[in-house]
Amino acid sequence: MRILLVEDEKKIASFIERGLKAHRYAVDIAADGEKGLELAEINPYDLIILDIMLPGKDGITVCKELRAQGIDSPVMMLTAKSSVADKVHALHCGADDYLVKPFSFEEFTARVAALMRRTRKEKTSILKVGSIVLDQITHKVKTADKEIVLTPKEYSLLEYFMLNVDQVITRTMISEHVWNENFDSFSNIIDVFINNLRSKLDSNRKKSCIQTVRGVGYVLNSKSS
Ligand code: CA
Repeated sequence: MRILLVEDEKKIASFIERGLKAHRYAVDIAADGEKGLELAEINPYDLIILDIMLPGKDGITVCKELRAQGIDSPVMMLTAKSSVADKVHALHCGADDYLVKPFSFEEFTARVAALMRRTRKEKTSILKVGSIVLDQITHKVKTADKEIVLTPKEYSLLEYFMLNVDQVITRTMISEHVWNENFDSFSNIIDVFINNLRSKLDSNRKKSCIQTVRGVGYVLNSKSS
């Protein structure tokens, strides 16, 4: 899952980025509202986190413009402004959630997970596809009741497949939701990660649970997983 963080204070931005990365999210950072809008227009983010007091365009204006453009990614406002009027105003302008700084990181990540869940059908943090079970809170993955150890990127990739089970996933979709802006689209890195994931998931299978759809992409098959 990929997140856009719009925050002008470098220290706060890198603190949040580190925390989100530890939770297996891909993160892009914009230091002002204009850059934030620009990135949100190009990339299909699973969540946008907006500081309100930003140089140039403030967070509220950015949120309004996103909505006016039909960008419906969930938006969380993160700000030091704590009055009821500020919160109500932000929610009226299209934000889905509002968190006041300073905040506990535990509450923050729980809200991030809840916002992403809201846009999907699942109401739990446990994803199941065939014999594969993935816990989005502990990041533990089991297949046929045996725990398997995945790297953070392998985990993100598997999570993305499980959220889109039985659907063909293109390389572009993978790069847009699992990697951040620094992704090199000319590399074969996705194929490498898919092969690593296969070798960890398929030890007891005749056929890989992740099938290649030639010229298109990949599909996680619920029948063979
Ligand atoms: Ca700020």
